[in-house]
Amino acid sequence: MQTGKAIQHAARLIREGKLVAFPTETVYGLGANAFNPDAVANIFRLKERPSFDPLIVHVANLEQAASLSKHSDDRIRLLAEKFWPGPLTIVVEKNERVPDIVTSGLNTVGIRMPDHPLALRLISEAQTPIAAPSANKFGRISPTRAEHVANQLPDVPYIIDGGPTTVGIESSVIRLHDDGFVMLRPGAVSSEEIKKVIPESHIRIEKEDEFHSPGQIKSHYSPQKSMFLGISDFNDSDLSNGGLIAWGTPEYASKFKKVEYLSKTRNSEEAAINLFNALHTMEAADVEFIIADTVPEEGIGIAIMDRLKKAAYRHRNNAS
Ligand code: AMP
Ligand code: MG
Repeated sequence: MQTGKAIQHAARLIREGKLVAFPTETVYGLGANAFNPDAVANIFRLKERPSFDPLIVHVANLEQAASLSKHSDDRIRLLAEKFWPGPLTIVVEKNERVPDIVTSGLNTVGIRMPDHPLALRLISEAQTPIAAPSANKFGRISPTRAEHVANQLPDVPYIIDGGPTTVGIESSVIRLHDDGFVMLRPGAVSSEEIKKVIPESHIRIEKEDEFHSPGQIKSHYSPQKSMFLGISDFNDSDLSNGGLIAWGTPEYASKFKKVEYLSKTRNSEEAAINLFNALHTMEAADVEFIIADTVPEEGIGIAIMDRLKKAAYRHRNNAS
């Protein structure tokens, strides 16, 4: 379908309370009219997402952002000027128009303006903010291509195909407090960059045992086979039935049955773009287990390692 027609069709579905999968620069989202609780309930049903995991609401302009939040906060405008459209979700107090199902009963709502022309056109034509989590089954690998969505969610009524996503990793999520902010989920935008925009801010340190945000669930993004992080425990093992997700071009790659390269030149941005597709490819490949190289934890590498640790978590901890 021609792009303009596809957007019109998708926007009509959103207005009718149906679900649409659409590309953003981070990952593909599964969207519904954020003000329609029945439509939003279908997101949870289709994803098999637990109701305690709140959704990010996507907007196309600052007026739509203001239509969700309880107070006007100049920091939203400052952050928006610098980072929107882009991969930063800002969690603020919600107003009563936002249905509880969107926020899992929290009195806060996560808001983001995605940096993707098709997403922005869809939200504008639908004339409503769109609640959208990643378009995958809960806990599974996030989708960075339309075919990833179609494979995991064959029942989604409509998918806008925008090709591979250009950031490749979910947005950074911050919660604004009166005196500062907390980074709830690392992404392409770092705490240091945010502090430059709201310099009076304190970055709060979170207590380990506090459940701040469902994005902090330890097991997530998991392939349906054993996955391990780092080669060092496997130096003397037979790796010929394994898959390697490689950082750079390590010489031990030749010991594996299959190799997916995150970035041959060790470029973190390129690695972020390739990460989820590498996991999808390995999940479908004829390999018995997956080993992923670690990447340097700086810049977007922090977010890459966050996702890799969660993908490997259940195997490290022998959970099912
Ligand atoms: P997803 O859309 O699947 O990438 O997941 C959205 C994530 O954003 C959630 O799992 C939370 O970690 C975070 N999030 C969304 N809304 C809120 C909120 N109101 N408070 C805290 N975290 C939130
Ligand atoms: Mg997700």
